[in-house]
Amino acid sequence: MALLFNRQHNDFFDDKIELVRRSRKNLNLRVLPDGTVRVSAPRRAGQKEIIAFVQAHQRWIAQQRQMIHEAQKQRPCRFVSGEVILLWGRPLHLRIIEEDPCDQPRVFVEGDSLNVCVPFHTSVQQRKKAVENWQRSLINNSVIPLIDDWQEKIGVKVNKITLRTMKSCWGTCTAQTRRITINIALIEKPMTCLNYVVVHELCHLVHHNHSSDFWQLLTDHLPDWRETSRLLK
Ligand SMILES: [Zn+2]
Repeated sequence: MALLFNRQHNDFFDDKIELVRRSRKNLNLRVLPDGTVRVSAPRRAGQKEIIAFVQAHQRWIAQQRQMIHEAQKQRPCRFVSGEVILLWGRPLHLRIIEEDPCDQPRVFVEGDSLNVCVPFHTSVQQRKKAVENWQRSLINNSVIPLIDDWQEKIGVKVNKITLRTMKSCWGTCTAQTRRITINIALIEKPMTCLNYVVVHELCHLVHHNHSSDFWQLLTDHLPDWRETSRLLK
């Protein structure tokens, strides 16, 4: 459950900071796509300790917000070095590395960079394709275990999984053929969003509409789905 910091403790912070208590050892924070800073804290951590932790990361938070903002406004990407690209909600600087010979484009994360190794003189389209193929394989590797896991929990069986880029929805479900389609653009959102979309679509195999039974089933399996779906607005 998310909880906003109490403002009276917190002249320093804006209202876009939320605290999540978890059974974990260390404090951790991340910047969500809407700029909210989510601080995950051990159940025992005191308010002072948490505030000091956030304060210590003030610069990093500002940088992350700036990068996310850039990534969101600069679409469509020209796939040149310096552009920002989001991977599971985390902003990375694109680094185009031209090399010869280069049989297969290679894409990999190194620190805060997304390195794309391509031959000299590649077109925007070719670089875009290299990144998109890589994104597709990441989504694919993540979605398969999620579906395996959730179809067992929910008690449904998926026939076919399709990954594509879609303009107006994050996922679809065709109940008759038990086919699930997942939007590849979910790669830009925190991974909890992919999990939410998978559970949402699998619940449609039980209830083919957005009836109250559907939302109840979803809530039974994913009690904090509202918090996640907010990131998909
Ligand atoms: Zn739906």
